[in-house]
Amino acid sequence: MAERRLGEFEIIDMFRGRGGHRHDWVQHGIGDDCAVLDLGGERSLLVTTDLMVERVHYLRDAITPWQLGWKAMAVNISDIAAMGGTPRAAFAAAALQPGVDAAFLEGLRDGMLACADRYGVDLLGGDTSRAPQDGVLCLTLLGTAPRDRVLLRSGARPGDVAFLGGPVGLSAAGLWLLTQGAEQAGRLDPAHRDRLVKAHLEPQPQVELGLWLAERGLVTSMMDVSDGVLQDLGHICRASGVGALVAGEALPVDRALVQAGAIGCCEQPWRFALSGGEDYVLLFTAPADHQDALVAGARHELGIELIPFAWIEPEPGLRLFGADGIHSARPRGWDHFG
Ligand SMILES: [Mg+2]
Repeated sequence: MAERRLGEFEIIDMFRGRGGHRHDWVQHGIGDDCAVLDLGGERSLLVTTDLMVERVHYLRDAITPWQLGWKAMAVNISDIAAMGGTPRAAFAAAALQPGVDAAFLEGLRDGMLACADRYGVDLLGGDTSRAPQDGVLCLTLLGTAPRDRVLLRSGARPGDVAFLGGPVGLSAAGLWLLTQGAEQAGRLDPAHRDRLVKAHLEPQPQVELGLWLAERGLVTSMMDVSDGVLQDLGHICRASGVGALVAGEALPVDRALVQAGAIGCCEQPWRFALSGGEDYVLLFTAPADHQDALVAGARHELGIELIPFAWIEPEPGLRLFGADGIHSARPRGWDHFG
């Protein structure tokens, strides 16, 4: 039999099921940041799970146990934020090497609970096992959102603008500083270096922004950026049956990332920022008429600088607007099996 290798998204499709659900409480199944369950009340239940594998998602000598615990909790909370939801409860399962000591576990617990405290989450259960080699940490998060106000990936329409909840590419630059760029890292302003490394190791999910956007009622689609902006915008476009024209060189790039580019992290910071991944900022669309009100409102009420960066169009696919014209963009980002 010929060997057939599948990408991450083909694997997800394979497990998606064959249409329909056994129970009518399923408001939305596989394919968004969370599953949405309608329990009959005014609020729906949001459920998500996310996995961190040693040497795939983290390197044990490049992250402290505290940071590992924080990040595992934060990336799951970010998926609740991506639906416009409120995170409520977490379950944690871990497979750990036989040699793992008490200090490592205490750090892991403290980081996880610090993030849970920050976002109002209760840790309610879990499981542990010995791992023969690399460690694996898997969290499941429950959240809630008003039943009629859950923000999905599928509502983007031509005439919408796509926004980012903050600068992107910082986490990928932080990863570079911790790995290939470790020798050059000393040439960077320490404040910039800390900002980039922290973006990678201690992401801050945008729960308040997600709730604020859901309350405005203007957002047509939303997700969080985990795989890279272009890839994630591609997910929104496919789910919505639309395409997008993306500001390339015009994308505002964080100063710390520009500085990292100057010491060898990347040649074109804007291009790097669009494909980086693990940013955990929100990516959402809203009608262009509301752009100014949303940008001003987020600035004044939350102190958040929204970044409009793409225009939704009827024609499928992503196009990149650059100095030399418009090119079709092949979304490059993270695929674990790619
Ligand atoms: Mg997500």
